[in-house]
Formats: sequence, C-alpha cells, structure tokens
Amino acid sequence: MGTFPPVNSNPYVHPSKNLKVLGMEESLKRYKIAIVGAGPAGYFSAQALQNSETEELSFAIDLIERLPTPWGLVRSGVAPDHPKIKTVSKVFEKVATHPNFRLFGNVELGTDIKLADLIERYDVVIMCTGSSIGKKLGIPGEDLPGSISAAEFVPWYNGHPDYVFADVDLDTEVAVVIGAGNVAMDCGRILALNPVELDATDTAEHALEKLHASQIRKVYITGRRGPEHAAFTAPELRDLPKLEHTDVYMDAQAIEEAHSRALASAVDGEIEKEIRNNLEAMRIVATTEKKGNERSLEFRFLSAPKEIRGEFKVEEIVFGINEIQDGKVVDTGETYTIKCGLVISAIGYEALPIEGVTFEKGKILNEEGRVPGTNIYTVGWAKRGPSGVIGTNKSDASDVVKLVVEDLGEPKDSEDVTTLIDSEIVIVDQAYWERINAAEIAAGEPLGKPRIKEVSRFLLLSLGQN
Ligand SMILES: Cc1cc2nc3c(=O)[nH]c(=O)nc-3n(C[C@H](O)[C@H](O)[C@H](O)COP(=O)(O)OP(=O)(O)OC[C@H]3O[C@@H](n4cnc5c(N)ncnc54)[C@H](O)[C@@H]3O)c2cc1C
Repeated sequence: MGTFPPVNSNPYVHPSKNLKVLGMEESLKRYKIAIVGAGPAGYFSAQALQNSETEELSFAIDLIERLPTPWGLVRSGVAPDHPKIKTVSKVFEKVATHPNFRLFGNVELGTDIKLADLIERYDVVIMCTGSSIGKKLGIPGEDLPGSISAAEFVPWYNGHPDYVFADVDLDTEVAVVIGAGNVAMDCGRILALNPVELDATDTAEHALEKLHASQIRKVYITGRRGPEHAAFTAPELRDLPKLEHTDVYMDAQAIEEAHSRALASAVDGEIEKEIRNNLEAMRIVATTEKKGNERSLEFRFLSAPKEIRGEFKVEEIVFGINEIQDGKVVDTGETYTIKCGLVISAIGYEALPIEGVTFEKGKILNEEGRVPGTNIYTVGWAKRGPSGVIGTNKSDASDVVKLVVEDLGEPKDSEDVTTLIDSEIVIVDQAYWERINAAEIAAGEPLGKPRIKEVSRFLLLSLGQN
C-alpha cells in the first residue's frame, strides 16, 4: 500500500500571465479555454485549437478530467485485445506537450468545480464528457442479479476505478449479449475467447483472474433486426474467424436472406457500401469451417428480448421472433428461450447529466456544438450521442472549433481554475500523469504486457507521487 500523495501546492503559473514577460506582441489575443473531459473529443478539441493559432490568436488550454488517468474510452472502453487502436494515445500525449496546455486530472466538474465558475472565468468552455450510462432494456427481470449493462462490464474488464467491484458473475455456462453493435461484439468476444489470449494485454488483473476461472463456454450475441441492419463494422466481423479457441456461428441462410432484402430495397440495384461489406464479412464468418472448440460465439438476429426470468438471479431470457415485412421489423408473436446465467445489454449509452447544462435525449442540448446563449460548446459523445469511432471525434472537434473561433469576442481578463480547486485535492497534472503512465508500463514489461493498470484511485495517485 502506497502513501497518499502530498496535498497539491497549486504550482501553476498560467501562460497568459506571462505574456509581457515573454515580450509578446500587444496584438496577440490569448483566450482561456476550459475543456472538460480528457477523452478523444477533449484531446482532439485541444489539437484543433492549437492548429487554429496564428500570430494574432493564441489559446491557453486547461483540460479537466475527473479520473487520475486521461484518454477516456481509449483506456476504459476499447477492448484490450485491440491494442493497435490505443496507439492514438500518442497523438493525445503530443497535444499535451504544447506549452499552453495544462492537464487537471482527478478534478471533477460538478463536484470539485462548478460549471458556473468555468463559464465566468474562461472565454470558452468545451464539454467533452462523453456518455457513460447504459441504456435500459425496459423489460421485466432486467434488474435481477446476473443482468448487467455493457456500461458496467466493459469498464470492469478495462480497470476503470469506479467499476472494480461491479457484480460480474461468470459462474455459468451460457451468456447472452443483447445488441448488434461493436460494443456488443467486444463484450461477446471477451466472454467467449480463451483468456490466455488476454494474458499479454492490459486487461485489468482482477478481471483476467475472473475470466480465467469463468465457466462460460457459449455466448450468444442477439440483434432485434436483421443482419443487414446490424451496426457492427466489417473489420471487427472479419476478425472473428481468426479467434483461435472459439468457433463463431452465424446462420448462412439468414445472411443470404438479408442480402436479398438489401438488394431489393437498394437504390439503382447497389447495396450501400457499409451494408455490403458487413454482409460479405458475415458470409465469411458463417462459412468458415468450425474447429470443434469447446468455446463458441453465436449470432442470433431478429430476436427481441421480452423478459429475463429467474428466482433469485438470471436463469433464462425469452426472445420474441421478429421478421422483416416491406422493410419493417415485425413481431411474429412467436418466442424462444435461452437458458443462461448472465445477460449483458449493449444497446447504447446516454450522458450523465451535469448541473448547469441542459441535457436532452441523453446528450447536451446543442446546435452543431454550440450551446445557445452561452460560451459553452460541446464535442464528441456528449454532443452527438454514443456513435462514431475515435476518428469521428477528430472531425467533430475541428468543425466545432471553427465555430468557437468564429464566435470569439475580446479575451476575458480573469482568473483561471487554479484558485477554484480545493487545496486538499491532488491535481494530476501532465508530469504527474506521465509518472503514473511510466509506472504502469514498467510493471507490465516483465510480463510482456503493454501495462498493468492500477485500478484504485488511491494507488493511482500514489504511483504518480514524486
Ligand atoms: C466499449 C467501447 C469500445 C470502443 N471501441 C472502439 C474501437 O475499438 N475503435 C474506435 O475507433 N472507437 C471505439 N469506441 C468509440 C470511442 O471510444 C468513442 O468514439 C470516443 O471515446 C468518444 O470520445 P469522447 O471524448 O466523446 O468520450 P469519452 O472517451 O467517454 O471521454 C469522456 C471523458 O470525460 C470524462 N468526464 C466525464 N464526466 C466528467 C466530469 N464531470 N468532470 C470531468 N471529467 C469528466 C470521463 O472520465 C472521460 O475521460 C468504443 C466505445 C466503447 C464504449
């Protein structure tokens, strides 16, 4: 057990205070920008601001993050067996080297600081707080033990400090994942693969241990609509037959029927590119010879969850069978049941509301990123809802920052966030984070892992202590 880091002595001197000392031109306008949320949207917003700087225009950026670790879902969402995707963090770290950039990790908006204060002190506030709450299925039995959301399961295996103690019961042979997008696929794959395939990854140690002891051998991934409507992406589908210890099943006939329907409704006889690629990848999955592995992953389409049943915990789930009529999904009235001990719903996310800003339909009420009548803007999942890959946030940030620059008035002459934060709070600045990062990487090295994630806030803060 480490010792608690020293009380922060607030050592920051904001660059805007040094303008005259540095002998900069009087014509230079420097604006103070607070970005809240250090996920992809936060870093790409900072990058877009840095790229917009000119001889007359400069930005002092403060990036505020509630966790002691930055990178958002790149750390706590992206699957551990997809390490290449996480290399985008190099871009984030480059953004952080800019002299006018400061990280305020371990500082939560709404608890440690108030939005009203940021609005007052900063020229612009950009909300990049993402979407962290799992959408509910709204069916009976959903709250039984053994029924959880991907919004708990994913951060559990990825070592998010708030989910270390999530109630994940793997003491069952069959698991069912509800949802037909990449998050559902990640959940299904992590449950169905042989955990030796995760040994050399940064899967949280507590999760790896539990996955090794897991009794799960059969995993279903289910979608309410047809294969042609699935939100999976083709590269993720194409990776499935490469799983060494898991046989993956899709009904070849269902894929052909989906192809015929897609063709029948296609404009000019051309199926949309994404759908065509997806169906092609699904065909490969369906027709790849199975190896007779004891672990399997099976996709079931046109299956709508109706009820989760069990006396004290999940014992089975009932699905209604849908069909497609004239392009519409219709309930046939027939049902089927899967006996299982774990149900994971992965049907989307919504944002956790923050005091001082209006949320509607799970995201911040905004007009193309502007929050009308305020100096607040929003980028990423907080703005758009939970859609789009990491790169989508880059173009989103660049579009919104154009509006920010367009709207700029005279820079404020005001204090920044440093005098607002309670001196009891340990601020994880960039150097502090770099020490945490280096310590995690060093701990992973002897085991051939990219890092070993520390999952307690207390120990994370201790890791970065000077
Ligand atoms: C399970 C999963 C797997 C994914 N896999 C991939 C993939 O393989 N490839 C890919 O391209 N995309 C993937 N994505 C999508 C990608 O992660 C998102 O597009 C991206 O992370 C959204 O960025 P964001 O910055 O809007 O939100 P987030 O990444 O969620 O970042 C939001 C940040 O805000 C912080 N925050 C929240 N509230 C506060 C507050 N009150 N005060 C201070 N800070 C706060 C959070 O702690 C977090 O760090 C995946 C998403 C999920 C859910």
